[in-house]
Amino acid sequence: MASVLITGASTGIGRQCALDLARAGWQVFAGVRNPEDGEALVSAGSGHIIPVILDVTDADTIGQAAKKLETDLAGKGLDALVNNAGITVQGPLEFIPLAMFETQMQVNVTGQLAVTQAFLPLIRKAKGRIVFMSSESGRNTLPLLGPYSASKFALEAVANALRMELLPAGIRVCLIEPGSAKTEIWNKAAKNSNQIIDAMPEQAKRLYEKELGLLAKLPERINKVAFPPENVSKAVRHALTAQRPKIRQLVGIQAKIMV
Ligand code: NDP
Repeated sequence: MASVLITGASTGIGRQCALDLARAGWQVFAGVRNPEDGEALVSAGSGHIIPVILDVTDADTIGQAAKKLETDLAGKGLDALVNNAGITVQGPLEFIPLAMFETQMQVNVTGQLAVTQAFLPLIRKAKGRIVFMSSESGRNTLPLLGPYSASKFALEAVANALRMELLPAGIRVCLIEPGSAKTEIWNKAAKNSNQIIDAMPEQAKRLYEKELGLLAKLPERINKVAFPPENVSKAVRHALTAQRPKIRQLVGIQAKIMV
């Protein structure tokens, strides 16, 4: 049975990938931050799903997760890693608190690299595959999506360099670039943006009035054009199983709703 670790498997795209891959016969290690999310996933799924506590910004949980997989795989390698966990920080770059910008980079870039480093010994053993969940925002950006795009552009550079570095070891690295998928990420992002906007001086809010108005409507507008996470899950399966998977897979397209 082929094995896969998926980070950020509690909700959205990661959860869908976990359910679909388990149904397709994979041994799924589902990275979650809370044990209850792991239990919910196990009850919702069929097949082999093992929850693994994993916060991509926490070296301790990453190390413990790596040890757990080493034990559970009993000498075998890990066939696939799906670096999916992510958050979205949105707002005018002029006023983004730098701590929030850093958190965006820490979760979406440094965290992905930290997980990749920790699991590479197991992946090397299986000559496995690594998938990075980028975004259409990893090749194009839009007003107020600067922090998120910065993280996904950086993630693409990390993935592209890794692809070349790991090719001699027989390890494939792919990027998935979803447009707008119907998940909770947009509502979570709206909560973050409200914090950023509330902290902006009144005069600045007037300067960015049009963009902030569009940002406020973003979750509702995205809901109208977004596609289901199943589409992204299919792309992940292609990246994990196709003999010659696409190196960058664009899934749907982002509606140009912020301009
Ligand atoms: P969700 O918000 O539904 O899922 C995000 C997942 O990441 C959750 O499981 C969340 O866990 C987890 N996560 C957040 N922070 C951390 C952390 N520090 N450590 C470990 N896990 C963490 O969003 P999506 O499913 O939409 O997003 C999944 C990926 O897809 C992200 O990388 C996102 O950028 C990308 N993407 C999404 C698009 C979309 O339109 N939805 C479009 C393009 C790309 P918890 O529940 O504990 O917070």
